[in-house]
Amino acid sequence: MQLIIITDMDGCFLDFNTYSYEDSVEALNRAVKEAAVISFCTGKCLAEIKVYNKELKLKFPFIAENGSIICVPHDFFDFDFEYQRETEKYKIIELNVKHDETIKALHNIRKKLDFEFRIFSEMSPEEINEYCGLPIESVKHAKMKEYDDAVRIVDETPEKVNLFKQAVAEEGFSYTKGGKFHILIKGSDKGKAAGILLELYKKKYGSIVSIGLGDSLNDLPMLEEVDSAFLVARPDGSRVDIGNSKAKRVNEIGPKGWSEVVNEALEKVKKESHFVKE
Ligand SMILES: [Mg+2]
Repeated sequence: MQLIIITDMDGCFLDFNTYSYEDSVEALNRAVKEAAVISFCTGKCLAEIKVYNKELKLKFPFIAENGSIICVPHDFFDFDFEYQRETEKYKIIELNVKHDETIKALHNIRKKLDFEFRIFSEMSPEEINEYCGLPIESVKHAKMKEYDDAVRIVDETPEKVNLFKQAVAEEGFSYTKGGKFHILIKGSDKGKAAGILLELYKKKYGSIVSIGLGDSLNDLPMLEEVDSAFLVARPDGSRVDIGNSKAKRVNEIGPKGWSEVVNEALEKVKKESHFVKE
């Protein structure tokens, strides 16, 4: 039975404020050593994830830009599957419209609404750093979005958020929310992408057991696709409305909660030759 870990990054594998993996790297390394497969499923874009993969020496498929694309290292699967483009390192399954279409929709929305919002890919590195704490040196990669985009509403109120959501729907896009930004996406979400990736894993390994980890609204569709789902706590104590989701809330915050869940899953797989589905 192959253990598959599908995980969000910001506020989950990475610290919500500092973007550090100091508290999760030990569990990650243990998981790799014990032959688990770890796939990031994140709002981050390909250019950003490549940096983490290199630092962490990870060579697994991953999901970028909130489900916009699935990136599969060449030769990871020894069977044919459908993909739309490739880079030197990856075969890429595209599930979202391209970034210019997303920007066009956002500019239309800007004309309709009489309050200010800032678009992530148009913000200066300093503005991004000031708002969300992402280190300046990481911003240049973060801005290399190819599909979705994210928005900060200036002087946000629930009313402004509702008007923004409405305008997003009128443009034919879907709305979701990450830890810090409102997200615009079309044609996919983390759940759709995770579902496709899990099917590929089933084809490769035959029998799999999957766990999913997230911290925000945009993770909920992904958490529906896995066998066991976990929502780590947020540093400010705020709680995502999980509705009917089967996700279990973890008391520990971000990477500490991440480590706890991953270590427990590894113990469980070790103990049971047959991992019982929960
Ligand atoms: Mg997150």
